[in-house]
This record gives sequence, C-alpha cells and structure tokens, in this order.
Amino acid sequence: MQINLSKLFEQDGSHEELSVELDATSVRFGAEEYDICDKSPVELVIKHTKNRHIDVSGTVSLKLRMKCARCLEAVDETFDLQLESSFDVNGQSEELEETPYVSGYSLDVDLLVMDELFVNMPISVLCSEDCKGLCPKCGINLNHGSCDCDTTVLDPRMAKILDIYNAHNKEV
Ligand SMILES: [Zn+2]
Ligand SMILES: [Zn+2]
Repeated sequence: MQINLSKLFEQDGSHEELSVELDATSVRFGAEEYDICDKSPVELVIKHTKNRHIDVSGTVSLKLRMKCARCLEAVDETFDLQLESSFDVNGQSEELEETPYVSGYSLDVDLLVMDELFVNMPISVLCSEDCKGLCPKCGINLNHGSCDCDTTVLDPRMAKILDIYNAHNKEV
C-alpha cells in the first residue's frame, strides 16, 4: 500500500492517522518464502513536523507460516511489530537511500513493515523447545514415533575400546 505524503506538506505540524491493509501475502527472506497466514491492519500515525520532515509510528501484527528447524513441520510465528521511522522528503538522495520505503512523496507501507520484520526475523524457529527432530537415517518425525535405527555415531577409536571391552566381558 502506497501512501501519498504530499497532502501533509501543506502545513507544518499536520498529522494523519491511518489504518491500512498490507498488500503482501507472503514474505521472501533469503531463500525462503513464508506465507502470511494472518495479519492485522497497519495502524499508522504520520506526522509532518516541519520542512518536509516526516515522523512515522505504527503497529502491525503478522503471523507467518514458518518451518521448525529440526522436524520441518509448519510453525506459525506471530510478530507484533512496532514501526518507527523518521525521514526527510527533500529530494536528498543520500538520506533516501536509508529509507527504501520512501520514494518521491510516497511511503510504501509494505516495505516499511518488511524492513522492521527482517530486523525481528529469528535465525530459526522450533515447534517446541524439546522438538526431537527427524531421524537422520530413516527420516521419521521422532515427535510422532520412534524407529529402530542405530543412530549412535561412534568415534572409531571409541569403537575399538568398546570391542576390547565386549571381548573382555565375554571372557568373564
Ligand atoms: Zn519440530
Ligand atoms: Zn530412523
């Protein structure tokens, strides 16, 4: 959703309260694409302090369908974002580079929200703290069942010691 700021410039100190819908239905983050399965409207207060200086504050809540890093099951992660931004719309390109969501006199609300979302994006999510993950051999989800795979990875030196130990036990 693009918001045209030019009306605010008619007067110093003018402000506008808006409730806008996000256009985005998914979020691309690195190689992953997450569906937005729930979202609140973006509540925004946009203030023209003076000389085309704009202060934006707002809130939005998003729910993304992500994946558990261990078992790969869907995990819905909720993000309650606080939006804060200040910028000048004086056509000074240096400052505009820091705010990719401002172009000319228009504010791209989707990009503003994505900017904040990426800052809050966790490196990985888990379905639960003690998710058992997948069996590395047969791939079964160990939260839902178990398998008979031998997944003990032995250090070869350790295996030798065990052989000796077992042989010794047999003798006794
Ligand atoms: Zn999991
Ligand atoms: Zn297995």
